[in-house]
Amino acid sequence: MWDIIIAGGGPAGLICSEKLASYGLNVLVLDDRAEPNMDKPCGGMLTERALREFALDDSILEREIWGVGVAYREGESFTIDYDERVGGNVHRSKLGRYLAQRAISAGAEVRSKERVKKLKVLQDYVELSASETLQTKMVVGADGANSLIKNLLNPTEDRSSLGFCVQYLMSMNPESIDERFGRRNEFYYGGDVSPFGYAWIFPKRDCVAVGVGALLSKVKENLKTYLENFVKKHPIASKKLEGAKVIRFDAALVPLSGLTSKIYSDRIVLLGDAAGTVSPITGEGMYYSMKSGETAAEVINNAFQKSDFGEKVLSVYQKKLKKQIGSELKWGVWLQNYFLKGQSSKVGGGIMSDKSMQKLVGDLLLGRKSYTRILVQAAPYWIKSKIKK
Ligand SMILES: Cc1cc2nc3c(=O)[nH]c(=O)nc-3n(C[C@H](O)[C@H](O)[C@H](O)COP(=O)(O)OP(=O)(O)OC[C@H]3O[C@@H](n4cnc5c(N)ncnc54)[C@H](O)[C@@H]3O)c2cc1C
Repeated sequence: MWDIIIAGGGPAGLICSEKLASYGLNVLVLDDRAEPNMDKPCGGMLTERALREFALDDSILEREIWGVGVAYREGESFTIDYDERVGGNVHRSKLGRYLAQRAISAGAEVRSKERVKKLKVLQDYVELSASETLQTKMVVGADGANSLIKNLLNPTEDRSSLGFCVQYLMSMNPESIDERFGRRNEFYYGGDVSPFGYAWIFPKRDCVAVGVGALLSKVKENLKTYLENFVKKHPIASKKLEGAKVIRFDAALVPLSGLTSKIYSDRIVLLGDAAGTVSPITGEGMYYSMKSGETAAEVINNAFQKSDFGEKVLSVYQKKLKKQIGSELKWGVWLQNYFLKGQSSKVGGGIMSDKSMQKLVGDLLLGRKSYTRILVQAAPYWIKSKIKK
């Protein structure tokens, strides 16, 4: 009998397992990939708050990030550089290995190539089917955007609010990366780039992640065509990517509409993408998923102290998480609607030429300020741009 079995060895599940094991609970993580989270499709940008709050080692970084580049209409762009590091880019397989090692050092067991197929919640425990049948007092669903456990808890959830991303990993020699991107992550907006989202280029050591994301419900044509056009025809990106070679293509879902309606039930909690913890406007997910893992671990530990794994005790998790990140996710949906609806006209409609406004966009993309603070600070520029019209 395990205390806790965690389905999914991504940042959410692994941070949660490390914390639970450090409380002295016996934890098993099951991940269906060859190594935990191996090759998880992702741009790989960790914001500075993620690196700091979770004490992530600098050795996992493929490139430090000190600024951003933003292109918002054909040919129009700006860059923002900070006088401190604002994040770093990683390869997800390396991050997975690192977080798994931390969890194991804390006392958790991590098994790969183990797919959770079924759960049965019984009176005193949960029966879980993977390559063998296992028994556990609690289950944590950290199994990503297409979560089996989320679907058990939310069988009627509308999938149209999910995001869909396509991404190339492209090899490039390090000198060209230094020269063309330096220590900046680049974001590209406009209806020609994505039907309802944005494109990104995140440089690593000897390759770049180049992707396009959009709300699934707005994708009417093949999103890969947008990606190909971006790489070959975008006036800025195509030049910067000259000579780069595609080494991998991925397509993946990402939740973009805020917290999943039900993230706990008797003996079960959901974390990370399974719980909808991705910023609807920036797509940042790793920080929020680790945050949910940490918060869930505290609540689960409390449930073990009380020997009560019922909904009432576990409901504290949802309350705590809403307090920590609920407003970000809610305002993120608002920002998503405002900026990305007909983005070619709105993004860049005069307002972006202001330096202070550009800095606020940088802060938003890098998770440096809360969305409410950004909105309050942006209001005067927005009003000014309306009056000018
Ligand atoms: C293309 C793309 C680019 C992105 N770029 C960024 C970025 O640059 N920065 C950022 O912060 N966020 C980014 N995100 C979001 C980020 O990747 C996710 O929010 C984050 O990985 C969520 O972590 P998680 O642990 O909840 O889930 P995941 O990382 O998805 O981990 C879930 C794990 O569970 C495993 N699994 C699934 N089902 C089962 C099962 N039944 N049994 C066992 N194991 C299972 C999966 O194989 C996986 O390893 C991006 C997402 C996409 C799709």
